[in-house]
Amino acid sequence: MRVGDLETYQLADALIRSGLRISIVASLTGLSVKWLRQTHVHLFGVSPVNGRLPDNCLSFTQNYEAAARLSSFVTLHMGLHGGPVAGGKELLTTWREYERLCGAIDINAGYYVCRDVRVSIVSLMRCSHCRTLYIYDGKRRYTSQCPYCYLAKRQTAGRG
Ligand SMILES: [Zn+2]
Repeated sequence: MRVGDLETYQLADALIRSGLRISIVASLTGLSVKWLRQTHVHLFGVSPVNGRLPDNCLSFTQNYEAAARLSSFVTLHMGLHGGPVAGGKELLTTWREYERLCGAIDINAGYYVCRDVRVSIVSLMRCSHCRTLYIYDGKRRYTSQCPYCYLAKRQTAGRG
């Protein structure tokens, strides 16, 4: 086994442990779905979940909190890697750093938001009020305005 191969297997192992869907791990590592499924069974004692993958990251933004989390994830990813780059290693680094700084997040949601910004399925908008970047899709309720400002406003209103 070459060193490069070993690194790929180690990355696949770490991505499976993080909870990333098998077909995404396959696309990021080039390893076979069959082998990855066997690894999942070996690691967790159960088969990985099957079923359809979401079309894009908007499936993960069911409220303003989620929109804020995904905006923070992609902003962190771009800060760490210089852009919304693809790559399993980069995704894993961002996910670990996000969880250390901000708490739990579904790595699949993180994968999709970085990809969607990269291929312009969603755009990144800078809020004119708080200057923070957030994922923007004007057709959807939770991504049509800055989620940070919305949540801050709601919190203030709740206190009053
Ligand atoms: Zn704002």
